[in-house]
Amino acid sequence: MNTELHLPLERRIGKRSASVIGKHLGLDTVGELLNYFPRRYLNRGELTPISKLPLDEEATLIARVLSNSTRQMRARRGSLTDVVVSDEASGEQIPGTLKISFFNGFRARTELQPGRRVMFSGKVSRYAGSLGMTNPDFVLLDEDPELAGSVDPEKLAAMPIPVYPATAKLTSWSIHKVITTLLDTIDMDGIEDPLPADIAAREKFLGIGEAYRLIHSPETAADWQRARDRFRYQEALVLQTALARRRAQLAAEEATARRPVPAGLLASFDRQLPFTLTAGQAAVGKTLSHELAQDSPMNRLLQGEVGSGKTIVALRAMLQVVDAGGQAALLAPTEVLAAQHFDSIRRTLGPLARDGLFGGAGMLGGPGLSESGPGPVQVTLLTGSMPLAARKQAMLDAASGNAGIVIGTHALLSDKTSFQDLGLIVVDEQHRFGVEQRDALRAKANRPPHLLVMTATPIPRTVAMTVFGDLETSVLDELPAGRAPISTHVVGLAENPGWAARIWKRSREEIDAGHQVYVVCPKIGDDDDGDFSPGEAEPSDAELSEEGPARELASVTAVVETLSQEPALRGVRVAPLHGRQDPVLKSETMASFTANQTQLLVSTTVIEVGVDVHNATLMVILDADRFGISQLHQLRGRVGRGGLPGTCLLVTTLEPGHPSRRRLDAVASTTDGFELSQEDLKLRREGDILGASQSGGRSTLKLLRVLEHEDVIARARTDAQRLVANYPGLEGQQALAAAIDEYLNPEKEAFLERG
Ligand code: ADP
Ligand code: MG
Repeated sequence: MNTELHLPLERRIGKRSASVIGKHLGLDTVGELLNYFPRRYLNRGELTPISKLPLDEEATLIARVLSNSTRQMRARRGSLTDVVVSDEASGEQIPGTLKISFFNGFRARTELQPGRRVMFSGKVSRYAGSLGMTNPDFVLLDEDPELAGSVDPEKLAAMPIPVYPATAKLTSWSIHKVITTLLDTIDMDGIEDPLPADIAAREKFLGIGEAYRLIHSPETAADWQRARDRFRYQEALVLQTALARRRAQLAAEEATARRPVPAGLLASFDRQLPFTLTAGQAAVGKTLSHELAQDSPMNRLLQGEVGSGKTIVALRAMLQVVDAGGQAALLAPTEVLAAQHFDSIRRTLGPLARDGLFGGAGMLGGPGLSESGPGPVQVTLLTGSMPLAARKQAMLDAASGNAGIVIGTHALLSDKTSFQDLGLIVVDEQHRFGVEQRDALRAKANRPPHLLVMTATPIPRTVAMTVFGDLETSVLDELPAGRAPISTHVVGLAENPGWAARIWKRSREEIDAGHQVYVVCPKIGDDDDGDFSPGEAEPSDAELSEEGPARELASVTAVVETLSQEPALRGVRVAPLHGRQDPVLKSETMASFTANQTQLLVSTTVIEVGVDVHNATLMVILDADRFGISQLHQLRGRVGRGGLPGTCLLVTTLEPGHPSRRRLDAVASTTDGFELSQEDLKLRREGDILGASQSGGRSTLKLLRVLEHEDVIARARTDAQRLVANYPGLEGQQALAAAIDEYLNPEKEAFLERG
């Protein structure tokens, strides 16, 4: 065990400092403080670009004093010292200035003389159009009290200044001072290195003690870079070893082999399929079929563009399991999508399916199966909003094994739902299901079931290797032949107000041609935030704040009202759909749209995922700038599905050149989901990526950037795989094992510490 790292801080830095650190940063042990890494490093000789400082956050900057003036305040006693600082010569084209105000700032008045170079730490705010700071802490750099005299001036000039995430009460340099003390008192030999020696040697990494010293107290930029490289790799290795171990554990579990049956449902299904599988569907199908036939569980992620035909692939896997006597469950993220899957799977299966309650084609003796053929499979829907009697029946069918395929929402996860012999779980649109939910479903099978996770949100390789690192990956990278292209246009109402009327004429043309139209709004009514799903690619706060004053956004209720008055749409059957509606009404509306009784559907993003109405050819997205890139891409995938060319109009009232319009231009410029997802991730922040995909999990990555450090992650993954293959229990790698436990279960660690 790493006893040194687990030591309470006060044992090394004294009670007073320890309590300050505990109170303001919540760090209690030597290891916690050592792992509190600088966010960045300032270069003593360079001024910080003022325009790049974050607003309303604690920031640390170096600037030169331009002027200093003090006056007595009129309204109350005391003096006000205004110091104007500049970042001139920071390399910025236009030098920025910042007005710093001190109340009764005697030290500021005397020390902050024009020409001095000073490091400030405080909150930057915007006041009356210009940037300001009030009562920040500061250090005169020309005479750093800590170092003056002890370090030769040339060396001092090159010395980077670490900048820590600070608080209003604790400046970056106070934190640094405490850590310096810690580095002096710590027993470096008591720190065990989680990196295996052979890897450290191969990579020529710094030893762990040296690395801690250099990341906190570097003498040159190269120092902290070397230290950071090492900790970054360590982070990747801990993560990847944890995942490799989980993969190995899953693979070592015994599952029931579900071997294909020569004259089973799957064979009949393939014979009746009205199209031929794409090469990708066939290849993935083969992989799945092989893995289902093993007695260790399949754990696979299937990625494929919107419309690439994942459902058929999943359905074929389900049929193989049913043929082998097992049950399959399909878990969908929304009721609308579950109901859609239920309908379309029954339709696709045709006579091979039968209903539970009412009897399907097979039971009614409809066009059917030959005498010798397999009996039809019962397909059952189970959602939380179903009437009690129907839900009970569905649960009974799942528990008795009558239902071969059970399709549902999170209701499938409830304690009351059980299966007779659950052999395969298919999770559709993974990005809304967390690991915990996957595990909850797994627990419903007597033996570990096979698992297939499907996602249409393209996931960059490295994200797949981290967030979904416990799954093997397959990709469907082509669309079925005959899929019509979708053309996407940005409709800028700011520059062309007349286009608003044109949109509805265009809709009318589609409807007159017998087709259907989606209109998507960011809001339901006037007083809500719409159906935004948490974790989706919403524009960041920063992007939204660029918009200035709030503007009126299109809402489902208001748009339905407007359209009823719209001359171009007279006589068109319009219906609203959104998340706050009664589930029965929702499914009625979807059914009516599917049947082309409703011609124009005004909805929120509830239609974003999976909804499949072939006759819909036009999608109008109002205030499209309110949606994220991947959301827009998902949305437009709803049109152009039936061989008819699709059109998507991204309507915005923002001025051309507005930063949020970049997303719209990106979406209009390509239909390649992978390209878009890279673009999307570039425009978003790191935390959002892991946060979004982990849904509920923690994203504790500190140094590792999933997008930037692909090579580090890939190397660590190879090393981790080898380690786990050679030492399944991580024998001889106690420090690494401990680091993994800590990563997986930080609360438990903290608890043990206090206990
Ligand atoms: P997604 O990958 O978005 O879930 P779906 O599985 O919903 O895509 O498939 C979209 C549509 O394409 C469905 O109507 C499906 O029947 C059809 N489809 C799937 N595979 C093929 C194929 N090989 N050839 C033609 N159409 C296909
Ligand atoms: Mg789908």
